[in-house]
Amino acid sequence: MTLVHPRPVRLLHHDASVRPFIVIWEVTRACQLVCTHCRADAIRSRSPFELSTNEGRQLLDDLAAFGTPKPLVVLTGGDPFERPDLPELVAYGAKLGLSIALSPSVTDRLTRDVLIELYDAGAKAISLSLDGASAQTHDSFRGVDGVFDDTIRAARMVRDVGYRLQINTTVTRSTVHELPQILKTVLELGTTLWSLFFLVPTGRGKLLEPLTAAEEEEVLHWLHDVSALVAIKATEAPHYRRIAIQRADVDELDDVFPVGPLRAQLRRDTAALLTGDEPRRRHPRAPIDVNAGRGFAFVDHVGMVYPSGFLPVAVGSVRDERFTEIYRESELLQALRRPDTFGGKCGTCEFRTICGGSRSHAYATSGDPLAEDPSCAYQPVPGSGSGHRVRNTSER
Ligand code: SF4
Repeated sequence: MTLVHPRPVRLLHHDASVRPFIVIWEVTRACQLVCTHCRADAIRSRSPFELSTNEGRQLLDDLAAFGTPKPLVVLTGGDPFERPDLPELVAYGAKLGLSIALSPSVTDRLTRDVLIELYDAGAKAISLSLDGASAQTHDSFRGVDGVFDDTIRAARMVRDVGYRLQINTTVTRSTVHELPQILKTVLELGTTLWSLFFLVPTGRGKLLEPLTAAEEEEVLHWLHDVSALVAIKATEAPHYRRIAIQRADVDELDDVFPVGPLRAQLRRDTAALLTGDEPRRRHPRAPIDVNAGRGFAFVDHVGMVYPSGFLPVAVGSVRDERFTEIYRESELLQALRRPDTFGGKCGTCEFRTICGGSRSHAYATSGDPLAEDPSCAYQPVPGSGSGHRVRNTSER
C-alpha cells in the first residue's frame, strides 16, 4: 500500500524573515572523537573563548524573545556533554519555554544518569550519529573502536529515559549502499526522525567523497519511498522538498521517475532486509520549508552567527549584537531569503521559493552562497520561472 501525504511540504505559519524555526548552538567545540567528516574540526579540550554560562543565558533569552512559536533550539558541539553547565543551560532554556534538543557524541560522558538529569532539566529530544551499518564502517568513520556498539546501547538508553530519538547519518559514496541496513536499525531503535546529511565539502568532510547529483537524486527518491516507515529529514538537500512536490500527484511513479541502478539496488536491499513483520506504515511526515538563513541559523562556540553550520560566512556576533537583530537585519541572511536573486538554475527554477538549493553546497563549490546548487540534478522547465506554489499549507 502506498500512503500519499496530503501535504507534500510543511510551510511555516510565521514569517521566516522575522523569526527562525530552528537555531543550532554549538555550545563547545571540544569532543573526544575524531570523526572523519567533522564540520567543526573538533578539538580535545574546551576553548577559553567559548560563550560563558551567562552569555549562553543571554542568547537563550534572545531566542525566547522571538515570541510564539518560539524557535526550536539544538545544543550541539563538538560534544555538548563536555560542558559542565549543560544541565543549567537546558533548565534555563526550558523555563523560557524553548524546546531544547541535544546532539551529544557517544563517549563515556553519555551515561544514563546524565541523560536523566538533562531530561529532568527539560531536554526532550536527542540525536545520535550512525554513519555505517556495522562497527567496521561506523567506527572507522568516527575514529574510535567500539563506538558503533556504544551508539546502539546509547540509543536504547535514550529511548528508555523517554527522549525522542533522532538518528543522523552522513551519506557518502562509500557508505550509501549501507543505507537499507541502517534504516533497519533506525526502525528497530524506535527512531522518531532519521536525518540524512548530504556531505558538504567543509571541515574534515573535505576528505570524504560525496555522491554525484544524479546519485543524490536517486537516494532522495529512495528516501521518499521509505518515508512512510520513519520521518525523514534531508540535511543540506532541500531539493528533497522539490521531489516531495513532484511525486505528490503522480500515480505511475516509476514511469515518471525512472528507477536508476542505485535506487533499484537500495529498493532490493530494503525489501530483502525488511521481510517478516511488516513495518508499521503511516502518512509520511512532510519535509519542512526552511533553509539556511530562512528559518534556520547557527551560532558557533564563540558566538559567531552563520546561516548554517556548513556555510562558514559569519554574519555577526552575539557578543556585539542581539541575535534577534542579526537574524532580521544581516544583509546576507536577507539575501538568502530572496531566491529570485540566486545564480544559475536555482534563480530561475520553479521550485526556488520552496527549495532554494543548498546554500552550503553552493558556497563550498563556488565561494558564492547565492550561486546555484551543484548537488541538484534538476533542470528547471524553461518559462516556468514564476515559482511553484504548494497548495496545502500546514502547521509546524
Ligand atoms: S535547481 Fe535549485 S531551486 Fe531548483 S530544485 Fe534544484 S536546488 Fe532546488
